[in-house]
Amino acid sequence: MREILFTEKVPVRGKYDVIVAGGGVAGVAAALAARRAGKKVLLIEKTITPGGLATIGLVNFFVPMCNGRGTVIIKGMAEEFLRLSIRYGFDTIPECWKNGTAGVDTPRYMTRYSPQIFALALTEIMAEEGVDLRYDSIVANVEMQKNEYGMHCNGVYVESKSGREFFEAGVIVDTTGDADVLFRAGVPTIQGKNYFSYFAKLLTLESCQNAVEKKNIGESYRVCTGGFASLYGHNHPEGMKFFTGTSAEDVTEFTVLNQLEMLRKLKNDDRNTREIVTLPTMPNYRTTRRIDGNVTLREEDAYRHFDDSIGAICDFDRRDFLYEIPYGCMIRSGFDNLITAGRCTAGEGYAWDVLRVIPPAIITGQAAGLAAAQALDTKRPVYDIETASLQNTLAGQNVMIHFDDSLIPAETGKHVEDDTGHV
Ligand SMILES: Cc1cc2nc3c(=O)[nH]c(=O)nc-3n(C[C@H](O)[C@H](O)[C@H](O)COP(=O)(O)OP(=O)(O)OC[C@H]3O[C@@H](n4cnc5c(N)ncnc54)[C@H](O)[C@@H]3O)c2cc1C
Repeated sequence: MREILFTEKVPVRGKYDVIVAGGGVAGVAAALAARRAGKKVLLIEKTITPGGLATIGLVNFFVPMCNGRGTVIIKGMAEEFLRLSIRYGFDTIPECWKNGTAGVDTPRYMTRYSPQIFALALTEIMAEEGVDLRYDSIVANVEMQKNEYGMHCNGVYVESKSGREFFEAGVIVDTTGDADVLFRAGVPTIQGKNYFSYFAKLLTLESCQNAVEKKNIGESYRVCTGGFASLYGHNHPEGMKFFTGTSAEDVTEFTVLNQLEMLRKLKNDDRNTREIVTLPTMPNYRTTRRIDGNVTLREEDAYRHFDDSIGAICDFDRRDFLYEIPYGCMIRSGFDNLITAGRCTAGEGYAWDVLRVIPPAIITGQAAGLAAAQALDTKRPVYDIETASLQNTLAGQNVMIHFDDSLIPAETGKHVEDDTGHV
């Protein structure tokens, strides 16, 4: 490929303690956590709407946050966000969790919500708490320099309607979902592969009637699909390639093929009987790029305690299954001020699936924001902070750091499948 050399003087537009790149749920959690720890925080988001896949990706489902036996496992900011997601919009929290009768084998603690209204609530909370926001701005590159700890990131280049600008930062949290910052900084990353899937929210005359009868607007949604592949790859068309999500060509091809497929299916209906509320405005990729962290969470780590756990999580599809998230999954030694969270966290196979969904993404975001603040306060590299101190802070914010062994079932090989929804 032909190349040209491009040089330009770029204005330095600001200096922050913590810059959060990407305003999905993990990014918003990281920004709020760092802000609540007293830091000057900038959140930079590519679109004009916070929440990422959980809002503009139209994934509107907080997967179960309890173990299926009546104990809430995922708490802290994940529970705060669950409440926030339904503060101004509908919910589907099972009745037993509202009237205090949840227990063994009752429906699990989860909810659907309005993705658009949740996005508004996320903007509101960040504005109220003093997180500086840059929407419609993409973190395009980083400036790296060697220091006594290895590689240090001085700040990020941001592209927007204002042109190209530079923002300096003490710590950068990569919550782009695609590990854009880490990749450009030279942190080892792992490329994922994606099946053909794409969905939108559909209203039909019938679904609207149903909502009116039940007096619940949440009942009006139906799902309308382009590609229809499941989390496990079922329905991925035979012979079709897998998608990466990390090049403009791939994103365009994935989107165009999916939109054409959605339209092909829609053409079968009477055009006066249905309407799409909104198409997803970010692609429905589950796994694009993630950190090759100091530690990788694996399926065999179920029920394992980690000394550096930043939070316990449960499995959305299998009751009883518990994991702890090691802090090592969010960092890489040799990069002193880069940390990640959300779906860029290091996990493998099914363990990564459990790690990347909305509630755990919020927990890793919360931990990343607090770890960033702690690294700055103690003048330590993010990969070398006192994890016991981080755990104390997280526990003080209602995060379950270690699950209790009494929650481990007698027969750990067996599990009850829970088809809780679309993940
Ligand atoms: C098809 C599908 C179904 C799913 N179903 C469920 C489900 O039912 N329940 C559940 O809990 N989870 C589900 N998930 C997973 C879950 O939605 C995500 O893993 C989770 O929301 C990830 O959050 P995040 O903040 O880590 O990343 P993202 O939501 O991907 O957020 C990343 C943000 O960064 C921004 N960004 C990206 N690059 C840049 C850049 N260079 N500069 C600035 N901003 C940038 C993006 O615009 C986005 O806002 C599903 C995912 C998919 C794809």
